[in-house]
Amino acid sequence: MRVLIIGAGIGGLTAAALLLKRGWQVTVLEAGTYPGGCAGTFFHKGYRFDAGATLAGGFDPTGPHTRLADLLGLEWPVTPITDAAWGTHLPNESVYQWVDPARWREEYLTKFPFSARFWQKQEKLAKIAWDIAARDFPWPPATLSEAARLPLALRPQTFAAAPYIFSKMRQLLPRETTPAFKAFVDGNLLISAQAISDHADALYGSSVLDLPRRGVMHMRGGMGAIAETLVHWIQANGGEVKYRQRVTRLETRNGFVRALITARQMRFEADVFLANLTPWALETLLGEAAPDRLRRETRSRPWMWGAFVVHAGVRAEKISTSITHHQVIVDVEQPLGEGNSVFISLSPLDDPSRAPAGMRAAILSTHTRIADWQGLDEATYEQRKARYAEKVLAAAERALPGFRAAAELVLPGAPQTYEFYTRRPLGMVGGFPQTSLFAARGPQTGFRNLWLVGDSIFPGQSTAGVTLGAMRVARLLNGSR
Ligand SMILES: Cc1cc2nc3c(=O)[nH]c(=O)nc-3n(C[C@H](O)[C@H](O)[C@H](O)COP(=O)(O)OP(=O)(O)OC[C@H]3O[C@@H](n4cnc5c(N)ncnc54)[C@H](O)[C@@H]3O)c2cc1C
Repeated sequence: MRVLIIGAGIGGLTAAALLLKRGWQVTVLEAGTYPGGCAGTFFHKGYRFDAGATLAGGFDPTGPHTRLADLLGLEWPVTPITDAAWGTHLPNESVYQWVDPARWREEYLTKFPFSARFWQKQEKLAKIAWDIAARDFPWPPATLSEAARLPLALRPQTFAAAPYIFSKMRQLLPRETTPAFKAFVDGNLLISAQAISDHADALYGSSVLDLPRRGVMHMRGGMGAIAETLVHWIQANGGEVKYRQRVTRLETRNGFVRALITARQMRFEADVFLANLTPWALETLLGEAAPDRLRRETRSRPWMWGAFVVHAGVRAEKISTSITHHQVIVDVEQPLGEGNSVFISLSPLDDPSRAPAGMRAAILSTHTRIADWQGLDEATYEQRKARYAEKVLAAAERALPGFRAAAELVLPGAPQTYEFYTRRPLGMVGGFPQTSLFAARGPQTGFRNLWLVGDSIFPGQSTAGVTLGAMRVARLLNGSR
């Protein structure tokens, strides 16, 4: 059986490796010149900048990256983070997400003394959610055999989560919640569930609030090392990863995809096709053949978030903190994103591969509404970009005083930049906001031999989430052979 995979993001590469392991003939076609997509690392003027993702989680003993490494027999180039996964800088104080659970408990009891019961409930729900994930829960089921598998992942303790399956995170917040506490929780949810507590699903939200204590690592060489490790494994095991191969069209007949066509007018045939794409990108490749259901989906689903980023090269002696990730919330009374919440990541002090001598690679990012970047003339677009860069740099200054003066290279990037480099329509990134388990999207496309992988399918965004989704699709295909 031959499988063609469109896109060398974490979703495409993970599925590729798992199918190869089970004897499939595997070819990955990637439009760009390096793997990883939003979790790739690119070279620029002696820096290795992460394209988007910077925080590597899910490397705990039962985490998705560890399980994948065990299945493939590979090793990730990682060093554990042992102090704080990140620090959140609120206007009046900083709260550190310590990796050590006891230290974290002490932190939240000191900073938010009223919040103990909230965190106890969150930890309980998180444990249930991570346990289910480790037992391969194909949600939402795409086939009858997946539906039959669902009960196998449940355990008596799973049912303790039953009262919360329709709840939002907001309903878990303590009655004494302050604007600072809500902004703290919302800031953490926004980066990992793409929704704040008012909308984020309670089970999903609880599980992602646990991320700092679920195996967070430094990837040596940058986040792209996950994708690069997978590419090496695929190539060493007889699979192919072809770069500069942008797929422009899918040929279909009678409910099946027969072949794909690339921008270089090459035609590839296969038995099965995987698209490491958003539904919008898939619709474009299918053109007239796009099923009505997919068309309805792309019309009715709200757009995903976009990201505004600044890649910066900073003098290491001026920014010498050993905590590599920081989040700044400028005003706890105002909506997050749009420069009011900014995530900052610095290359580790002990990874010289990331920057020229004496420098560190930094990436600053904020969520931004895609719609506000559409239809601008060039001058307005440039002004908007400059204004956002200012906002983001000012936020960084709050967490890391002296940041601006230390920055010798500043490269702003808007949703258009993501659209160009990751080919994600309109620069929509981060998958769908996880607002309800019952609105989750599965991998089906309307074609019997075409499946989606990547952060558009449950459980959505992050390298860990996308790995889980791709493991599920590989299992589905292996079961069908
Ligand atoms: C600013 C930002 C910060 C983030 N921070 C984190 C973080 O700290 N930690 C974390 O875990 N996650 C983070 N994420 C999310 C994470 O990066 C993504 O959820 C994940 O990497 C998406 O993987 P994917 O498999 O969906 O593929 P993508 O990353 O979307 O990759 C798809 C690939 O397909 C290729 N492609 C697209 N169209 C075609 C075509 N027609 N033909 C051929 N190839 C094509 C693209 O070039 C790309 O390489 C962040 C994302 C962003 C944008």
